[in-house]
Amino acid sequence: MGTQTSEQSVIEGVKKQLYIGGEWRDAAEGGTLGVEDPSTGEDLCQVADAQPEDALAALDAAAEAQKDWARHPPRERGEILRRAFEKIMQRMDELAVLMTLEMGKPIADSKAEITYAAEFFRWYSEQAVRIGGSYSISPDGAQRIITMKQPVGPCLMITPWNFPMAMGTRKIGPAIAAGCTMVMKPAKQTPLSMLALAEILEESGLPAGVLNVVVGSSSSDVVAPIISDPRLRKLTFTGSTPVGRGLMEQASENLLRVSMELGGNAPFLIFDDADVDAAINGAQVAKMRNVGEACTAANRFHVASSVADQFAEKLAEKLGSMKIGRGTEEGTQVGPLIDEDQRGKVQELVEDAVGKGAKALVGAQKMDGQGYFYQPTVLNDVPKEADLRYEEIFGPVAPVFSFDSEEEAIAAANDTEYGLVAYVYTRDFDRAIRVIERLQTGMVGLNQGMVSNAAAPFGGIKQSGFGREGGTEGIEEYLETKYVAANLPAEAPF
Ligand code: NAP
Repeated sequence: MGTQTSEQSVIEGVKKQLYIGGEWRDAAEGGTLGVEDPSTGEDLCQVADAQPEDALAALDAAAEAQKDWARHPPRERGEILRRAFEKIMQRMDELAVLMTLEMGKPIADSKAEITYAAEFFRWYSEQAVRIGGSYSISPDGAQRIITMKQPVGPCLMITPWNFPMAMGTRKIGPAIAAGCTMVMKPAKQTPLSMLALAEILEESGLPAGVLNVVVGSSSSDVVAPIISDPRLRKLTFTGSTPVGRGLMEQASENLLRVSMELGGNAPFLIFDDADVDAAINGAQVAKMRNVGEACTAANRFHVASSVADQFAEKLAEKLGSMKIGRGTEEGTQVGPLIDEDQRGKVQELVEDAVGKGAKALVGAQKMDGQGYFYQPTVLNDVPKEADLRYEEIFGPVAPVFSFDSEEEAIAAANDTEYGLVAYVYTRDFDRAIRVIERLQTGMVGLNQGMVSNAAAPFGGIKQSGFGREGGTEGIEEYLETKYVAANLPAEAPF
């Protein structure tokens, strides 16, 4: 009862309107859309359902605020981020309940995401005052070459449901630090964490119009008029590869700067010299964080044949003992998937693999009852032909493949259109470097099952996209370089 009341008060405490030009307002036609709890399938609440005219109003506000915001002192931009960081950390408990209710992940996972999300604000509060430029003498000595960094301008940000806050702060943090204004469109399935974040930024002193948030039931209709508007200068998208591709096409009309954080199909390589127990712990993190609904989730385990069965059995024991339940319940380690479509897709991939000869060591079933729960699953002896070797699973399913040589392991790892992240377990340093240099991914976890870190450049290659979020690189996505050719008089003091 106590928990229910606090869940209810957390939901009641969030503003459910659009945030445009520093005001909370209803959608143009007064419509709303329901936000569902994936552990029950029931609506938690209604939020304003933006129409294209609302999105344009949000761009109007962003465009109007851009000039002043670009001139806002960097130290103050940083301090707004720093205050927001503190507030997020102070409100951790209620924000975690909110995130778990709308997305389903266990409270511990929500807290981990919120900490990660807040770190982008802390990191970019420090970067805001370190935006540099350069000065050099041209090779013929006749001019001075000066470069300055300036904000790109109004940005459209589109984020997915799987990390409702961190995928936003990874964009908002550097944009604020760089002096860009924004229209943010979170996924309609998980808008509440972003609305709560907007309120925190408002309380932290972010001027009206710098961040505008629109949530809509028809994302394509809502963003189309903004993408084609010449006042918009950048599109940054995190989500699936097909949607990213379509948005890039739309962005080409307006020649927008584009960043794409897209899907993944991460290989997790375990060599015969690896510490197998450490690899199992890493595998659990890489597979089960966020119930497997992460672009960085290990999608396939390629294990040296001498240790493959041992690895698969131990992993099955570990995943099979995880507690499944509603994310807000004490001790839950595995929450529901986001919706029935996602669960159906996971089930189909498992059935396909088993039908082609894979052996289910644990799980391989959806759970009866309400909500979209799926059992943690380990499949051994998975044949190459199984669809899940090539498709993003986005669920708690670990397929184990075996290899006989380093060469075979590298070829298997790279045998995908995606290139976001790979994990490598080996105690042989020479081998680690040899393998990592040949992996076609933007990131590698070496003897660890997680790479996410606000201070590091996150991003992919191939069909996983381009651009980097986090680290010193992340702010460059929001800055233009202006070059000045300065024709100095001959008597310059040299
Ligand atoms: P999605 O279907 O591509 O949706 C992502 C976002 O795009 C949502 O806000 C969605 O809004 C919006 N959207 C969908 N269709 C659109 C369209 N035609 N025009 C404009 N906006 C559109 O992806 P998802 O299912 O939410 O997220 C899962 C995917 O994201 C996975 O592939 C995962 O790997 C990827 N991901 C990548 C990273 C990374 O950093 N590389 C991080 C996290 C997730 P609505 O949902 O409201 O329609």
